[in-house]
Amino acid sequence: MERCVSTELDKVLGKSFDVLDKGFIRVIDYMGDDSSVVQAARVSYGKGTKKMLEDRALIRYLMRNRHTTPFEMCEIKFHVKLPIFIARQWMRHRTGSFNEYSARYSILDSDMYTPEDSVPCLQSSHNKQGRDITDTSTLGVQMKDSAKENSERAYKLYEELLEKGVAREIARIVLPLNCYTQFYWKVNLNNLMHFIKLRIDKHAQYEIRQYAERLHHILQIWVPTSFEAFNDYLLNGVYLSEKVMVILKRKINGEDLKYEDSGLSKQEWSTIESLFIRAE
Ligand SMILES: Cc1cc2nc3c(=O)[nH]c(=O)nc-3n(C[C@H](O)[C@H](O)[C@H](O)COP(=O)(O)OP(=O)(O)OC[C@H]3O[C@@H](n4cnc5c(N)ncnc54)[C@H](O)[C@@H]3O)c2cc1C
Repeated sequence: MERCVSTELDKVLGKSFDVLDKGFIRVIDYMGDDSSVVQAARVSYGKGTKKMLEDRALIRYLMRNRHTTPFEMCEIKFHVKLPIFIARQWMRHRTGSFNEYSARYSILDSDMYTPEDSVPCLQSSHNKQGRDITDTSTLGVQMKDSAKENSERAYKLYEELLEKGVAREIARIVLPLNCYTQFYWKVNLNNLMHFIKLRIDKHAQYEIRQYAERLHHILQIWVPTSFEAFNDYLLNGVYLSEKVMVILKRKINGEDLKYEDSGLSKQEWSTIESLFIRAE
């Protein structure tokens, strides 16, 4: 019996995929590929179904029906360099294993994140958590300059404290949240897809979305068939409630229903609207 190998992923092992101004994602190691998903599923379904369900169809069936454990048979380990405020969001995903650079043992380098000029900074007028897409205002530029200035000042102070003999574990508290950290992250394919779905979404913060997009790209290289099914069912598919289905059927049957009469939340109504926009 031979090990499952992804020849395409092998080609990029150790390669840095740049993210933000100084961050990166590198694939360190992996176990399994699309064929491991299929292999695991066939253990549970038995040989009888082998001919009926070809590999691609089987993966799509598993994804469509949320049979998640075959996807858990594949694992991947990344080396990630990212600002601390993004690491905090990342570590909310409890189903991976982390090993982070220790600022108690080692001196942090001076890398700090500063958003590029094209990155929006102003508070969104309609989303309490987000920020607006276009922003070349003076305030945006000022914010970026201030972040840079503050980072340099804080790092100078950090160095001074270390020179005076202050312990690394306490000197670091003068550093800001845009300071870069690094970790190893090992995660299975199922939880990786879950992470990408949540963090590539437009409601996620711009900076973590950049990382999610690189992971999405790596997913395509590693497991192209699972990637296709993931995009189709989980990422770009829509999950509909029973209430939404009822309204949808009435609309398809030609009823001129208005939001006010639908009994749906604004968000559910906008899902229906987007379906009709997509259809047109
Ligand atoms: C756009 C966005 C905004 C957010 N805003 C906030 C915020 O304002 N404040 C905040 O605190 N968080 C926020 N979060 C974090 C969010 O609430 C989740 O903690 C994070 O996305 C991790 O999701 P998860 O638990 O599904 O992932 P994982 O931790 O990877 O878990 C994957 C799945 O495993 C299962 N699981 C894991 N652990 C348990 C458990 N202990 N018990 C039961 N089931 C478990 C669940 O089914 C879970 O979905 C935000 C996330 C996003 C994407």
